[in-house]
Amino acid sequence: MTTESNLNKVRSSLPVGVKLIAVSKTKNSESILEAYGAGQRRFGENKVQELVTKWETLPKDIEWHFIGHLQSNKVRFIAPFISMIHAIDSFKILKAVDEEAKRAGRIIPCLIQVHIAMEETKFGFSPEEVVELFHNKEVSELKNIIIAGVMGMATYTDDEELISQEFSSLNSLFQTIKEDFFKNNPAFCELSMGMSQDYHLAIENGSTMVRVGSSIFGER
Ligand SMILES: *Cc1c(COP(=O)(O)O)cnc(C)c1O
Repeated sequence: MTTESNLNKVRSSLPVGVKLIAVSKTKNSESILEAYGAGQRRFGENKVQELVTKWETLPKDIEWHFIGHLQSNKVRFIAPFISMIHAIDSFKILKAVDEEAKRAGRIIPCLIQVHIAMEETKFGFSPEEVVELFHNKEVSELKNIIIAGVMGMATYTDDEELISQEFSSLNSLFQTIKEDFFKNNPAFCELSMGMSQDYHLAIENGSTMVRVGSSIFGER
């Protein structure tokens, strides 16, 4: 299967309105350009240096999404061009993004990463911590970021019921936060969940953005 046919297969299974982030981490420019040639414009990367190199060399109308854990001291390298940061996992990093966005004269859309999976993960807020974050007045004082929604990853398992439960609980949290903190703010609208293994289940549970890598570009 070629990248283009894989891409078309994934696309045809997405409902209208669900955005596809083609996760191109570790993949070379040739593969990315093949997807680009087939009309794909949103790509996801999780390493700053790799992303910067790709941004420098690939077409400038690509929308780059940063989907990995981001360190404060590296934000400045991506702030001038990044379209969205998916995995904000601390107030500290949110502040760093705001600062670097300001320096770059930009407003950067950010998603708050919530850990919904059963397995222990290092990164992301618990559902309780997310609510706390939005109660923090300092967050609304950050003028160079937009909180565009939340992001999460389900447990890596074959148990579809468990995956569905986790996605469903993230959707509930998303709706609650929207109601409680962003009622008149249409910018808070993205629920980024679903990868190659589970994006069908994520969509059933309200995902608005899926991040799909290996089903498009092959195994890493
Ligand atoms: C790598 C990655 C993906 C894509 O994973 P695939 O299983 O290759 O689809 C999605 N989201 C995040 C955060 C990732 O790191």
